[in-house]
Amino acid sequence: DSGHNGALAWHLTVEQTAAEYASLGNEYLRTRSADVREVGGRVLLNLLGHAVSGDNLNRPGILIATDIGLGEIAHIDPKVVLGICTGQGGATSHTAILLGNLGIPAVMGLGDRLSTIGEGDMVIVDGDKGTVIAKPSSEMLDDYQRRLEALHAERDQARRESLALAFTRDGKWVEVVANIGSTAEAKAATANGAEGVGLYRTEFLFLARQIPPGEDEQFSAYRDAALALEKRPLIIRTLDIGGDKFLPYLRYEAEANPFLGVRGLRLSLQHRDIFKTQLRAILLTAAEFPVRIMFPMVTTPAEWREAIALLSEARSEVADRGVYLPPRIETGMMVEVPGAALQAEQFAPLVDFFSIGSNDLTQYTLAAERGNAALATLADGLHPAVLRLIQYIVEAAHRHGKWVGICGEMAGDAAAVPLLVGLGIDELSMNAAAIPLIKQLIRTLDYSAMQVLAKASLTLETAGDVRALVMEQVSGE
Ligand code: PEP
Ligand code: MG
Repeated sequence: DSGHNGALAWHLTVEQTAAEYASLGNEYLRTRSADVREVGGRVLLNLLGHAVSGDNLNRPGILIATDIGLGEIAHIDPKVVLGICTGQGGATSHTAILLGNLGIPAVMGLGDRLSTIGEGDMVIVDGDKGTVIAKPSSEMLDDYQRRLEALHAERDQARRESLALAFTRDGKWVEVVANIGSTAEAKAATANGAEGVGLYRTEFLFLARQIPPGEDEQFSAYRDAALALEKRPLIIRTLDIGGDKFLPYLRYEAEANPFLGVRGLRLSLQHRDIFKTQLRAILLTAAEFPVRIMFPMVTTPAEWREAIALLSEARSEVADRGVYLPPRIETGMMVEVPGAALQAEQFAPLVDFFSIGSNDLTQYTLAAERGNAALATLADGLHPAVLRLIQYIVEAAHRHGKWVGICGEMAGDAAAVPLLVGLGIDELSMNAAAIPLIKQLIRTLDYSAMQVLAKASLTLETAGDVRALVMEQVSGE
């Protein structure tokens, strides 16, 4: 009637329908407007002939996209999608983290430069360096082919040795564990030589559904992950929602700055039923397996105490059912907020361990959002300001006899590991695919030399300077 083409007519109708849902009085129905838009968007892509789905990707290649949502990653098969380039996003965004777990090389935040790549072009994606080469010369292609073969040979060798512990040349053990978000990743962790799990991101269980998973469903998921670890320790992080992750069923006020808003533990403390259900499911798992608990985004000692009080209520509820729980279940906090890092001395007596969430600690320290492509160079955990905070946390923890892990992306970054070892980090938690090579790297390092290197890096000006120093000193070893 209006003379629009099919795609525009569809789009306008979807928007109108979504707006009608959004204006309803019932909270549940109101949040369904997002579902209408999501389905509408998929149909629109089909109408425009741009649909991207697992079915369309039927031969191996490189996927080029403006952006990839967390939900879309579920459709990606690593055998078909050999590499990914996106216009938006950053190296520590949750999308990048999930792709890393799948072992898919990805370079994000390329902006307009993506438009120079055409359908069917030959492309080299170097995920280690963060570079993309479109239409490479045949010499370059040969060179990369050789490097890829050498990398595969090095990986095979590293994988064979990955089950052994990693000691520095002068005998310091550095525990190497995995970050997981599912049971499949727990299996990959074990196969790659993880000595346990340093971070189980439980929020992936809660995403892409209409109601939160109940206690039984969560218990069964945590138990499956623990079983896959064959008695190795498992650190389960409680729900970290907010920031770039939303749940339609949690009442959530719109926020101007979600990363600075009601996120992580703050949100759990506002939704005590959901929080305690999760704590009970974790405790039930801890009754059978070596489980530790950690809370995300802790900012003040008062929040920590509140979380511990709820944990102890959950404990009594589980114990009242006649379940035997180990008397001591190690409980730690993630250090992701600079203010909490600077109060490490106050937190250390309260906690059993610290785990540094360097992705968030970096974005908050440098006021550079982790998913913002324009700030990718600034949001680098090797910035001396971030390293100083890490040093401060480690020193405070060790003074109180507590151990410190790091579970942000820098734990699996070969340029960061020499410094983290030098700063005295006890445990590195990373995506499973990175474990074999990082263990090999640790075996080449000298702890006392890394202490000197770490100290020198603190006095530099930029993350780039620090990277250059590490390259010069460590590759020369
Ligand atoms: C971090 O912030 O470094 C972290 C490990 O938590 P997440 O990436 O899930 O925010
Ligand atoms: Mg975090």
